[in-house]
Amino acid sequence: RFISLEGGEGVGKSTQARLFAAALRERGVEVVETREPGGSPGAEAIRALLLQGEAERWTARTEALLFAAARADHVARTIRPALAADKWVVCDRFLDSSLAYQGGADGLGEDLIRALHAIGSEGFLPDRTLLLALPEAVAMEREAIRDAGRPDRFGARDPEYHRKVTATFRRLADAEPARWRIIDASGEADMVTPRLVESVSEWL
Ligand code: C5P
Repeated sequence: RFISLEGGEGVGKSTQARLFAAALRERGVEVVETREPGGSPGAEAIRALLLQGEAERWTARTEALLFAAARADHVARTIRPALAADKWVVCDRFLDSSLAYQGGADGLGEDLIRALHAIGSEGFLPDRTLLLALPEAVAMEREAIRDAGRPDRFGARDPEYHRKVTATFRRLADAEPARWRIIDASGEADMVTPRLVESVSEWL
C-alpha cells in the first residue's frame, strides 16, 4: 500500500509520518518511510536545488519541472521497488503537493502538473492520501511561526499563498473521495496518530 500525507506547513505532517509509520510497524507491517522532495539519492540532489538559494532562483514552471523530476526518480528508485517487495510506503507529500503549491498557489493549473506527472511517473498515484487539516486560524499561526524559522527558499510566502494551498488541497480531496481522507490534525500529536491508523484500517 502506498499512502501519502498532505497538508500545508505547520500541520504536523512530518511528525505524523514518523508516528504513523511506527504505529503500522507495531501492527506487523513493513513500512518504508519517505518524503518529497527527495526520498532517493537523485531526488535528494534535486531537493537541494529546490531549497537552496534566493526565493526567485527558479520560475514557477522550472520549479514544477524539478519537483516532477525528483518525483520520477523517487517513484522509480524507492517507491515502486518497496511496493514490489510487499512493503507499505508512507510518504510525506507527493503529487498533490505539486497540484496545491505549483498548480494552485503559483497558478500553473492542475492540467500542467498532471501532464508533467504523466511524463515523469506514468501518472502513478497513492492508494490513499491523508489530508491533515487544522482550523484556519490555528494553521495560520503555526505557519507563521514555521515560515519565519525556515532557512530555505520557501520561507518567504505570505498568508494568501498558504490559503490558496489549503483551498486546493480541500478541493482535490472533495473531488476524489475514494483516495482521500481528511484527518483532524488538532490536539496533541499522539491523539492524531490513531486517526491516521483508523483511516487505513480496512487494510490492516
Ligand atoms: O514538507 P516540507 O514543509 O518540509 O516541504 C518543503 C518545502 O517545499 C515546503 O516549503 C513546501 O511548501 C515546498 N513544496 C512545494 N511544492 C511541493 C512540495 C513542497 O513548494 N510540491
